[in-house]
Amino acid sequence: MASIAAVPRTAPDRNCPLCPRLADFRKATRKREPDWYNSPVDSFGDASAQLLIVGLAPGMQGANRTGRPFTGDYAGDLLYATLLEYGFAKGVYQARPDDGLRLVDCRISNAVRCVPPQNKPLPAEINQCRQFLTATIAAMPRVRAIVALGRISHDTLLKVFSLRAVATPFAHGAVHQAGELKIYDSYHCSRYNTNTGVLTPKMFRDVFAQVRADLA
Ligand code: SF4
Repeated sequence: MASIAAVPRTAPDRNCPLCPRLADFRKATRKREPDWYNSPVDSFGDASAQLLIVGLAPGMQGANRTGRPFTGDYAGDLLYATLLEYGFAKGVYQARPDDGLRLVDCRISNAVRCVPPQNKPLPAEINQCRQFLTATIAAMPRVRAIVALGRISHDTLLKVFSLRAVATPFAHGAVHQAGELKIYDSYHCSRYNTNTGVLTPKMFRDVFAQVRADLA
């Protein structure tokens, strides 16, 4: 049976020092863009949700700038449009944290809470930040479905749930049992993946259609 070890903190400090490279990058970005958020980005949505979406890390011009996951860059356009379509969000997404958009029975978090250079966190940084993801999941008493956006998100979730990688390989559309909940794999909704055709809007919608059907 998969299990997760509960740890107490779901969100890091604003000046979390645990990844020196990312802390230095954050400091430099604060200097260059003093009006941006430039801090670890907390989860968006209620802890009582049944659905958790786990992305990779804040985008420089997206969550790192605005402070809300997937808000302000291309990935958010596709993600929020899809959540609205399947009833996991209400309102109008306007790429701003004050646009009034609400998540419905859904929460969004990231494998890594700080923006990494070139969107590429190092393995040690993913390992370090996993404690906050683990705590976030442990603090969601009703969670039944987790959508893993991309392989890194998938891999860190396997470690959260002590699942063997060989038995649960990443594949778009794959569904893995993790104790009483399911992990749904999807290619990340990045501009690169959609521009290159790795992920089409239909492929992305199909994942959320499956989640919606399973949660009914
Ligand atoms: S990525 Fe996570 S663990 Fe690393 S410095 Fe940021 S908040 Fe801390």
